[in-house]
Amino acid sequence: MLLGCIADDFTGATDLASMLVKHGMRTVQRFGVPRDDEAAPDADAVVVALKSRTAPARQAVAESLAALGWLRRAGCRQIFFKYCSTFDSTEAGNIGPVADALLAALGAGFALACPAFPLNARSVYQGYLFVGGVLLNESGMENHPLTPMRDANLVRVLSRQTEGTVGLVPYAVVEQGAAAIRDAMTAMAEQGRRYAIVDAVNDSHLLAIGAAAASHALITGGSGVAMGLPENFRRAGLLPERTDPGALPAVAGAAAVLAGSCSRATLGQLGFAREHVPVFELDPLAVPDAARLAAGAIDWASGRLGATPIVIAASAPPDKVAAVQQLLGRDAAGALIEDAMARIAVALVAGGVRRLVVAGGETAGAVVSQLGVRSLRIGAEIDPGVPWTYAEGGDAPLLLALKSGNFGARDFFLKAFAVLD
Ligand code: ADP
Repeated sequence: MLLGCIADDFTGATDLASMLVKHGMRTVQRFGVPRDDEAAPDADAVVVALKSRTAPARQAVAESLAALGWLRRAGCRQIFFKYCSTFDSTEAGNIGPVADALLAALGAGFALACPAFPLNARSVYQGYLFVGGVLLNESGMENHPLTPMRDANLVRVLSRQTEGTVGLVPYAVVEQGAAAIRDAMTAMAEQGRRYAIVDAVNDSHLLAIGAAAASHALITGGSGVAMGLPENFRRAGLLPERTDPGALPAVAGAAAVLAGSCSRATLGQLGFAREHVPVFELDPLAVPDAARLAAGAIDWASGRLGATPIVIAASAPPDKVAAVQQLLGRDAAGALIEDAMARIAVALVAGGVRRLVVAGGETAGAVVSQLGVRSLRIGAEIDPGVPWTYAEGGDAPLLLALKSGNFGARDFFLKAFAVLD
C-alpha cells in the first residue's frame, strides 16, 4: 500500500478513489475506520470514507486520527486528506482541525491545501475559489443548509480554522511548474507557515502540484490534486504500470436501479429510463410507512428481475417533495424513504440482483449499510465521478454503482449496465 486517504464523506471518497484508478492505482474504498485487526486489502491505495464533514470537530478529529493510525500500520507512505472541491466546512472546521491533528500525528509541519477541480469547474486563483465563473460565496454554496460558504478567500477561511498560519502559492508560481512550486512551499515551511493554499486553474497545474508534493507526509485537497500523485510512486519505482487498475471480478445476475435522489440530473435520468425499462414509483404520500412502502415495490419487482434493469424510484420534483415533507417533516420523510430503499435493496439482492445502481448520496449510504457492505473495490468509470465497484462484506457477490445526485448523463441508468457487457 502506497497512498492512504481519509475522506470526509462517502461520495467524495468514491470520487477520489475513481481518480486514483484512472491514474493507475488499484484502489479500495473502506466505509468507516477499519478494525485494528483488519488486514490491508490487496491495493495500491485505500480511501477510508468517514462522515466527518459536519460532525462536531472533536469527533471528526478522533475518527480521522483513528483512520490515520490504521493506514500507517498498513504501510502507507503518504497520507491524503480529501475534502470537497467547494471546501465545504463549518465555522468550527472541520478541515483545519483535522489537518492540524493529522500533521501533528505525522510529526510534519506543513501541508498544501488545494480543492481545485477544473474539470468540474472548480478553480483557485489568488487564493479565491471559483465555481464556474463566480466566486464560491456567490455560487449557491452561501446557502448550503449545513456548510454555508460565505467567504471565497481560502487563505482567510483556513486561517480561521487552524492554530497555524496560512500562505499562498499564487498562479504565477504554479505556472512555472513543479520545481518552482516545490521551492515556494519549502520557503513557506521554513518561514513557519503550516499551510499553503495553492492556485490551480487547469489539470497541468494539478499535475505539477502533485509532483511538487512527492516528499510531503500529508497532502490535503479535493480529488483533483490527487491526479498527480500516482506518477510520483511510478517515478520512485514503487508502483508498476498497471494495464487495468480498475479490473473487477465478473458478476452475473439481475440488474436494478434504486433512485432516492431528487436532483435535476436524477429526474432527467428517470425520464429517459421510463421510455426504455420498467419503472416503479414509490408513493410516500399515500403510504407513509417504510415497511409497507418497501413491500409494494418488492411485490412489483418479483417476476421482473433479469438482465433488463428495473428501476424503483422515490425521486420526485420539488412540489411533490414539499408535500411529503409537509406531511411527515423533512428529516422524517428522508429517513422513511431511505429506510424503505434499504429494505428494497436487501430484498432485491436476496432475489438475485447482482448489479445495482443507487442514485443519491444519503440513499446510497443507507443501502450500503443495510447490505452490510464494508468496502468497495473501485472499477472503471461509467460517467465522470461514478465508477462501478465490487462490494465486499455483504452476503453475495455484488457490483454497485453509487451515483451522487447530480452526476451522470441522461442515459446513465441504461448505460451503466451496457458498459458491463
Ligand atoms: P442527492 O445525492 O441528490 O442529495 P440524497 O439521497 O443524498 O440525494 O438525498 C435525497 C433525500 O431525499 C433522501 O433523504 C431521500 O430519502 C429523500 N427523498 C427521496 N424522495 C423523496 C420524496 N419523494 N419526498 C421527500 N423526500 C424524498
